[in-house]
Amino acid sequence: MNIKFGRRFFLIILVVMVVSGIITLHLRTDSSSVADNPVTSTTMTRFLMDTAIVIKAVGPDSENAVNEAFAEIERVEAVFSRHLPDSQVAKINQHAGEWVAVSPEVIELLQKGIYYGQLSGGAFDITIGSVIELWGFGSGINRVPDEDELRQARQYVDISKVEIDEERGRVRIPQGTVLDFGGIAKGYAVDLCKQVLKENRVISAMISAGGDIAVVGVKENGNPWRVGIQHPRISTDILAVVSLVDQTIVTSGDYERFFIEEGVRFHHIIDPATGFPARGVISVTIIADSAADGDPLSTAVFVLGLDQGKELIERLDGIEAVIVDEDGDVWVSSGLKDEIELL
Ligand code: ADP
Ligand code: MG
Repeated sequence: MNIKFGRRFFLIILVVMVVSGIITLHLRTDSSSVADNPVTSTTMTRFLMDTAIVIKAVGPDSENAVNEAFAEIERVEAVFSRHLPDSQVAKINQHAGEWVAVSPEVIELLQKGIYYGQLSGGAFDITIGSVIELWGFGSGINRVPDEDELRQARQYVDISKVEIDEERGRVRIPQGTVLDFGGIAKGYAVDLCKQVLKENRVISAMISAGGDIAVVGVKENGNPWRVGIQHPRISTDILAVVSLVDQTIVTSGDYERFFIEEGVRFHHIIDPATGFPARGVISVTIIADSAADGDPLSTAVFVLGLDQGKELIERLDGIEAVIVDEDGDVWVSSGLKDEIELL
C-alpha cells in the first residue's frame, strides 16, 4: 500500500512538474516574444478597393499585423470586385442566367445585401450594377444616360430575382442583371481587417477606407477615438466629431464620387426607383458595431432621404446616424447626442 501510494504520489508530482513546466514554457515564450517585439505603432497607406486605405495599429508586432490586414482587404477585393474579371462576383455576372458556384462568404454577404434591400424597401439594391455601368461610376468615363437607356437598365434591378442555393453553394441571377457589391464590400473588408488586427494582438488601431472607418479599442493614451465627419461641401472642414470605442463609422456622401455636367452634380448613389442619383440628403453617417451593417445602411438612408431615413435609424438597435440634408441642416439620432460634438 505504502509503495503504491508512493508511486502514485510520485506520478502526481511528475504530472504537476510537467504541467507547470509547460505553463512556464508558454509564459516564457509569450513574455520573450513581447520583449523581442516591443509594442510599436505602424501606419501604412495602400490603394485598394478604389480607395486610399490607411491603417494605424499599436501592438507587439504591429507591422506584421498591418501587412496581414492589408492582405485581407486585397483578398476581399479579389472576391467581390465587379471590375476584376476573375472575381467570384464577376463570374456570377459573366454567367448571368446560369448557376455559378461561389464560396460561403459570397452567399453570406449576398444574404446581408438582400436583408438590407428588404429592410430599406428596395432603396438599397445590389442588383443596381446595370444602372451603375450606364453612369460609368467605377470605370472612369462618366456620362448622363438618356431616359430610354435608364428604363432598359432598370428592368434588371430586382433583388428578388437573385436565387441562392445554399446547400450546393451556388448563385444565379437573371440575364442582364449585374451584381454590384460597391455599397457593402468595403464595410465587410474593414470588419475583417479589424478582426485580423485583433488576432495579431493589436491593442489599439484605426482603419480608414475612404468613408468607412473602424477603430480597435481606445487610443494609445486611453481616451476614446475621436473621428471627424467631413463637411460635405468644404472638403477641408469637419462637420462634427464622434467619440468611438471599438466601433465603426461609415459615411456615404454625394461628394465622394461625382461629376458635374451643365452645373448639375451627378453622384454614385443611385435611387433604384428612378435610376438617377438620389437627391435630398448630401451625407449620411452610420455608427454601428459592424461596418458591414453601417455600409449598406449609409447607402440605404441616403436613398430613402431624411424622413424615412430617420424613421429607419430610430427603430434599429445599436445603430446611430448623422444625416445632412441639401439645405445643410444636420440631424443627429437620439442615441448619439451625448457622443457627438457638432462644430
Ligand atoms: P463608397 O463606396 O464611396 O463608400 P457607398 O458606400 O455609399 O459609397 O456606396 C456607393 C456604391 O454602392 C456605388 O459606387 C455603387 O457601386 C453602389 N450603389 C449605388 N447605389 C446603390 C444602391 N441604391 N443600392 C446598393 N448599392 C448601390
Ligand atoms: Mg455604403
